[in-house]
Amino acid sequence: MSEFAHRLASALEERRQQHLYRERLVLESSQGPQVRLAGREMLNFCSNDYLGLAAHPKVIEALRRGAEEYGAGSGASHLVCGHSRPHHTLEEALAEFTGRPRALLFGSGFAANTAALSVLLQAGDTVLQDRLNHASLLDGGLHSGARLSRFPHNDVEALERKLNAVSGPSMVVVDGVFSMDGDVAPLAQLAALTRRHDAWLMVDDAHGFGVLGQRGAGSLEAAGLDCEDVPVLMATLGKALGCSGAFVAGSEVLVESLVQFARNYVYSTAMPPALAVAGLAALNLLSEEGWRRAYLQNLIARFRRGAGQLGLPLADVGGPIQPLLIGAADEALALSQALRERGLLVGAIRPPTVPAGTARLRITLTASHTEAQVDQLLDALDNAGAARHAA
Ligand SMILES: *Cc1c(COP(=O)(O)O)cnc(C)c1O
Repeated sequence: MSEFAHRLASALEERRQQHLYRERLVLESSQGPQVRLAGREMLNFCSNDYLGLAAHPKVIEALRRGAEEYGAGSGASHLVCGHSRPHHTLEEALAEFTGRPRALLFGSGFAANTAALSVLLQAGDTVLQDRLNHASLLDGGLHSGARLSRFPHNDVEALERKLNAVSGPSMVVVDGVFSMDGDVAPLAQLAALTRRHDAWLMVDDAHGFGVLGQRGAGSLEAAGLDCEDVPVLMATLGKALGCSGAFVAGSEVLVESLVQFARNYVYSTAMPPALAVAGLAALNLLSEEGWRRAYLQNLIARFRRGAGQLGLPLADVGGPIQPLLIGAADEALALSQALRERGLLVGAIRPPTVPAGTARLRITLTASHTEAQVDQLLDALDNAGAARHAA
């Protein structure tokens, strides 16, 4: 065997032995509270489609209309001839909705994060990141040439000590809502701290956008922060908006710098225009139908009450991501499997996605679940002995 094949095979074998091997599910239906898997209807509690928009008739209709008018693909990068009217309109709508001068679309959140960090940072700078930040933020920081420093999760004092020791330009980067823990960053404190230190703050609001804030504009709206407090905002279209893609919103000079200098913007095909038409329809639903957020909050409260009665030690978080900490990877996997046998999909999240010894079930609720489905989830957790497995 060649060195490469040998190396790959032994890494795969090691992953299997650690109960960390992952398999993809093959869905045979649209995303929703019920999905079809190998011909079987399953209740779905692991998607990020928080507002139930991924299969909303108006979003599907917008995608169809967009495809009829603009075709399947964009044909080129934004700077060549792939930037069409729907992209432009969606960017303007996102800028207005987030209260920022400009917004710029990317094909994915991963690309948006690495683009922003690589353009903003250079050698001699320091980027300070929460330990639990999304992988794309950490990768972006690593590739930027800046010194990467990680601080303990949500620990503002530890961050302040690090900032005191830094000389030269520094940037603090956090998730608004942490994707595997469901808790929120102390954004108001972080904004005050970064202002005092003349540092920039960047927030990845993939899980807050559409869910938090009076209007659904996300973590920054909930914390009452503007573009001066948080110069760089990234959010995605693939979670609460139910579509795909992402955007960075900020000042004219920030966004124009991304257009000119971000390699993964300049050298990448623009997202399909039809997807931008669908994104705009989803954004309209998000802002016009505030009941989705209120109803989701109601389901979350119902789930948390029921879990408390079952003695399930949920983390103290109020959003749609409700992790149930298990600890060992094999136990988390066994519990997820037991739920699967009962017709429920709940993801077991294991290292390296989360730190070793903190494997968990990541339960997510959406506005398209019913109260009865939440009760089914509670019953299934009870039947599968979740309380016994929980850490
Ligand atoms: C999903 C996610 C991303 C990546 O966005 P994609 O559009 O899926 O590439 C970035 N940051 C966080 C916190 C995420 O949860």
